[in-house]
Amino acid sequence: MNAKAPVLCGVMSVALVAFLLGTAFRGSPAATAGAPAKVWNMNDRVTKTAEEWRKLLTTEQFNVTRRKGTERAFTGAHWNNHAPGTYRCVCCELDLFRSEDKFDSGTGWPSFTQPVSAENVATKPDRSLFATRTEVLCPRCDAHLGHVFEDGPAPTGLRYCMNSAALKFVKQSEEKK
Ligand SMILES: [Zn+2]
Repeated sequence: MNAKAPVLCGVMSVALVAFLLGTAFRGSPAATAGAPAKVWNMNDRVTKTAEEWRKLLTTEQFNVTRRKGTERAFTGAHWNNHAPGTYRCVCCELDLFRSEDKFDSGTGWPSFTQPVSAENVATKPDRSLFATRTEVLCPRCDAHLGHVFEDGPAPTGLRYCMNSAALKFVKQSEEKK
């Protein structure tokens, strides 16, 4: 009996640790300080046909993200949103921007100084509208999001000028769900 006690104790400790870990990973509603952004990796792609996207999105979301449209200034859901949280791609839910990096640009479009991580946005030259601008896209599903300009505030000097219709806002308290 005495010889078996330490072994039994050890087994019980392992079981207890496993139980506690299991509880932790099943998600107590802990994190309120903002969940870390999911950094995109290039093997995780979302591809759908135009018809499939059309069924999933509203007309405005479709026109902006899949047809490179631009919503009218001061009409979108997010230009004047000051709540803490994360802005995701409306098409594929990739984390794109955080409220901490949002600023009042006065343009009527939601504007950010930087994305959640460099990997989470793609850019390419856009030569439409008689000027060369830099288009910003979702790297996961190729959604058109907006443009980035070099007239933004510190710390980056960049202004990511986004369409509300391309973004889904997730409040900080909802981020883990
Ligand atoms: Zn996307």
